Amino acid sequence: MTRTAIVVGAGIVGASTAWYLAKRGYQVTVVERDAVGAIGASASGGNAGLLSIGHFPLTRPGASWRGLRWMFSQTAPLYIRPRFDGELIAWLWNFHLHCTQRHLDRSMAVLGDMGFKSLASLESMMEEARIECDYQRDGWLDVVLSAEKLADAEREARSIERYGYKWERVEKEQLLRQDPCFRPEVAGAIHLKDSAHCAPHLLIAGLVAALTNLGAVVRDRAEVRALKVGRGGRVTGVHLTNGEELHADAVVLTAGIWSDPLARLAGVRIPMQPARGYHLQFAYPANAECAMPSTGMVLHESFVAVTPMQTATGPQLRLAGTLEIGPLGAAWMRERVAMLLKGGNAYLKNLDTLKPISEWAGYRPCTSDGLPAVGGVSGRDGLFVATGHAMMGMTLGPVTGRALAEIIDGEKPCIDCSMLNPDRFA
Ligand SMILES: Cc1cc2nc3c(=O)[nH]c(=O)nc-3n(C[C@H](O)[C@H](O)[C@H](O)COP(=O)(O)OP(=O)(O)OC[C@H]3O[C@@H](n4cnc5c(N)ncnc54)[C@H](O)[C@@H]3O)c2cc1C
Repeated sequence: MTRTAIVVGAGIVGASTAWYLAKRGYQVTVVERDAVGAIGASASGGNAGLLSIGHFPLTRPGASWRGLRWMFSQTAPLYIRPRFDGELIAWLWNFHLHCTQRHLDRSMAVLGDMGFKSLASLESMMEEARIECDYQRDGWLDVVLSAEKLADAEREARSIERYGYKWERVEKEQLLRQDPCFRPEVAGAIHLKDSAHCAPHLLIAGLVAALTNLGAVVRDRAEVRALKVGRGGRVTGVHLTNGEELHADAVVLTAGIWSDPLARLAGVRIPMQPARGYHLQFAYPANAECAMPSTGMVLHESFVAVTPMQTATGPQLRLAGTLEIGPLGAAWMRERVAMLLKGGNAYLKNLDTLKPISEWAGYRPCTSDGLPAVGGVSGRDGLFVATGHAMMGMTLGPVTGRALAEIIDGEKPCIDCSMLNPDRFA
């Protein structure tokens, strides 16, 4: 008998899960609130597109104290809007408790392994579906302005060697020689060699289009209002806002930051805080005075990600970053959008001669322990969750989808999911 699944949300996590379920013979229906192909509310279309495997989670020793210090500066890289909110306070306290070396080591044992497997999953999906998204597996550069910070960046790179990640220090002269985009003020860079970058909106559009070819039904501009809970607490389907009901053997919640409010309607909690980031996109005119960076990079002191992208209309550059924890839907903080340009200008020559063609904001779904929630939910048979990837969702989404499809199909997942159990928040 054909097994059926409803996947809620067509970001990178939902689209990857739908792909692997369809490959396993499931009759899959994907329900997506936005128009597929547009860079809408989904974090997956507008992010920096760095597939930065081996990246640390947010929960690092000292991160909570740094966050508190920055709380009163609207132009700090991490800004928490001060407000009296019990959920935020509980989240911050739990975050603080997880900012330890022991938790980081345990987390990296899982995330480090997921990284390589995620790129393998992504590459096999892209090859089979022939997705063109300017995917380049040439690593990324951690570009640094001060010699002291370069030593810090080198120490960080050394610490991920044990998970199999390769890196190289690039001295200033070499950096300026190999890439004319940089200002002479840069001190050097660390090249994290195993990673990749892409135009994420093209990847999502290609992946969702490929789902249809696999026989999945993609319902875009359709919004799930609630999960349908039947006898014994089993989740049997979803209610849409247009009044329709859809039924399936498995309901997969991959709605990014919106997964928690939907889960709560079924009595399940996945507490997350939305960490908003912004992007500015620039087109490159033929006579641009600003040289196009040759690869993806993060500007170390300003935390701005810079990604070159070849699109159908020509070369483009995306600057993305800033992390702002605040209520969903709050007005944009223009000073934080401006931080992208200011941060970029400190490293890249003539960046201010380019005109942005679009700007965007999206939400990273952040759990308080820095790890995603992936798996089934106790007391809610038929319900499966994959969310909470924070700043690593584009990177780890593909393997998450593969692992969740294996769990739904009753198999041992290809990654260690023991620390990712959604029940840990119950
Ligand atoms: C500025 C910025 C830069 C980033 N850069 C990187 C990067 O370089 N590398 C990296 O790995 N990660 C990056 N990230 C993080 C990454 O974008 C996210 O972790 C990832 O996209 C989350 O994917 P998702 O599928 O879980 O959620 P989303 O992409 O948010 O997808 C959720 C989907 O669910 C849909 N949905 C929600 N509610 C409903 C409903 N009720 N009914 C139907 N559909 C619904 C939404 O419309 C959305 O399409 C960045 C994030 C930001 C904000």
